Amino acid sequence: MRLAIYPGSFDPITYGHLDLVARASKLFDRVIVAVASNEQKQPLFSLGERYDLVRLAITPFPNVEADTFDGLLVDYYKKRGGAVIIRGLRAVSDFEYELQLALMYRKLCADVEAVFMMPKDTYAFLSSRIVREIARLGGDIRDFVPEHVKTALQVKLGSAVRTSG
Ligand code: ADP
Repeated sequence: MRLAIYPGSFDPITYGHLDLVARASKLFDRVIVAVASNEQKQPLFSLGERYDLVRLAITPFPNVEADTFDGLLVDYYKKRGGAVIIRGLRAVSDFEYELQLALMYRKLCADVEAVFMMPKDTYAFLSSRIVREIARLGGDIRDFVPEHVKTALQVKLGSAVRTSG
């Protein structure tokens, strides 16, 4: 059984993340979207909220599940029985940071393999941070996140998030 772990902050999950989930679900028997606690990043959504948003978003994929983890990713990786770690590469700007992370995983746990996936070009500019900013400023985020995520942003940020048009 080929198990892949897709870790991240998912604050909140976007269509860019989901594009990778869809690709990974075809390549691996089972995919775990692992939501990192990442409290030091002061996320907009709590861990429980981010987990719930991921859980709802992945319902179309029967071999994909959601989980949360705290602490080192390699510890979580070992706990889940070893697998491939999936990360996304949007642009060259992601590369240096992701390479550094992947080499550090390997240093901490020799048999970790990281697999990098590229999203559809239309999602290459998309990040949770940009979505949060656009939402905060009242912009239209319908093309970037599923409906339930848009609603959650609306609730979290107040009426600024555009509901139509
Ligand atoms: P982290 O804080 O761990 O970077 P994110 O939720 O921002 O968490 O991202 C998790 C992973 O998903 C990262 O590897 C990131 O590069 C990737 N990712 C985020 N947005 C996109 C996107 N639009 N297309 C492809 N990969 C993405």
